[in-house]
Amino acid sequence: MVYPPPNAVIAARDSNFIFGSVGSGDASLVINGVRIPVLPNGSFLAFLPVPTPERPGYELVAARGRDTARVSHPVRLPALPLDVASPGAPLADSGSVQPGQALMRRPDELVRLRVRAAPGSVALLEGGGISTPFAIDAVAAARGDSLVRVLEVAARVVASASRIVVRRGSDSLVLAVPAVTVSDPEDRALGIVGAATSVLPDTDRVVVARPVIGGTYKWFLLPGTVVPVTGRTANAVRVRLDRQLEVWIDSTEIRSLGPETLAPIRVAGNARVTSSDPEWSDLVIPIGERPPYSVETTPRGVTLTLYGTTANTDIINYVASDSLVERVTWVQEASDRARFDIDLREPAFGHLVLYERGALVLRIRRAPRVDRSQPLHGLTIAVDAGHPPAGSTGPTGLYEAVPTLAIAQRVRTALEQRGARVVMTREGPSALGLYERPLAARRANAHAFVSIHLNALPDGVNPFRAHGTGTYYFTGQSVGLARHVHRGMIQRLGLRDLGINYDNLAVLRPTWMPAILCEGAFLIIPEQEAALRTPEFQEAYALGVVEGLESFFREVGRRADNR
Ligand SMILES: [Zn+2]
Repeated sequence: MVYPPPNAVIAARDSNFIFGSVGSGDASLVINGVRIPVLPNGSFLAFLPVPTPERPGYELVAARGRDTARVSHPVRLPALPLDVASPGAPLADSGSVQPGQALMRRPDELVRLRVRAAPGSVALLEGGGISTPFAIDAVAAARGDSLVRVLEVAARVVASASRIVVRRGSDSLVLAVPAVTVSDPEDRALGIVGAATSVLPDTDRVVVARPVIGGTYKWFLLPGTVVPVTGRTANAVRVRLDRQLEVWIDSTEIRSLGPETLAPIRVAGNARVTSSDPEWSDLVIPIGERPPYSVETTPRGVTLTLYGTTANTDIINYVASDSLVERVTWVQEASDRARFDIDLREPAFGHLVLYERGALVLRIRRAPRVDRSQPLHGLTIAVDAGHPPAGSTGPTGLYEAVPTLAIAQRVRTALEQRGARVVMTREGPSALGLYERPLAARRANAHAFVSIHLNALPDGVNPFRAHGTGTYYFTGQSVGLARHVHRGMIQRLGLRDLGINYDNLAVLRPTWMPAILCEGAFLIIPEQEAALRTPEFQEAYALGVVEGLESFFREVGRRADNR
């Protein structure tokens, strides 16, 4: 058995996949009474009902002739909610009280309290004796559980001594509300982001900010940016980028500044466009302190938003010969948010944000010159063989990092035959961190970053329906590359087309070049795992990627020739 591992907790509710190998294609296999097909190489994949709490495991019976082997494979099921409905049961499930951890919120901000309790009354008892009843949670009730009660109160109400009181007849139970502290209403509590590590002079080290706790990547703050702190949980800190926008960052990424500190005032001054290198142009905006920012790219330009910043830009100076930047305009979107719109004569190929000598620098990269008859000639391509660490394993034990390296090496050979210079992030079996992979590409000034992976599935998904070829991108300037390489892989591999996906994958964060991640096939599908051991399939995957790169850069060259 490869998946699930013994004693794994099965999160799926109805059915789940299991896979492994019986070592011989001649064997027959029965799992929990269901006959499962075995491939010629002995591998198997099944999608079976999740075991019951009474018998939490899989019973495997493999047979060849008169030879029979039996294996009991235990798994665990998530704990069921405490039974609080029947008479005599506890009045409430104390483990269900939410928030389950200490919080910091603004005094008037609503905090949602939640508890699962027996039929009867549930109320919040404030220090002064005021009692407020809970309501029934609509979402839980719609699912058939009307025992979940909720109440929304201002944070200052639960910041002082308050209790949840549950009553059933003459019985009562008192539950503590987790500590809620209130933040300074004037946002005078300041923090500095990325303070734990040394400040690098470029975007190789950024602090990720998220729209919700533990959520997706959206903002990338420069280490050293000072922001007001407005909320806190055990693992995340809410910071204010400007009056209209608050975001969450991991609590390890922020250091509180003392109470005697004052928030920076950021005023953007006169800007200039310089072009010290043929490969890029810089928009230089003097501003006394690092601002929180965001960059959005469109086919005809770049938008730079500066949060917590007032623009007082009288003059914008250009290099007369600049062939990339056509025009820069700015608007004050709100009293503390400025936006700079950069119109370009060609789409930006990539960008970097730096803070140098008291100025924010937006460095915009030109597309490389491309010879359309040999589009990859002279370009630098970063090839990333996915994993280790982590990664998936197929039914017969093929570890993802092995075929990804074999495919990446074939990609390298094919690229070099076409005249490209190749940067390999990894050339052997040792592990390489997620952040070091795109860093190698940026330092080599690569024109594209391609990460080679093989897909797996989350628990509960039917593996017989959801498999094929997929391609992932994150930055706007990577969509074109994703589309071309995806088409290349579909043509060469002939698997189901799962489309291209925007996804917040860490290796896809570099902004200096188009960056994509290929999931050409599924390692957990027995037929695809078997194919991945063959040179023919590895070569097909590699050629699909390389032909996609070739087609993408041919189009880059065509666009330049049409101007
Ligand atoms: Zn992977």
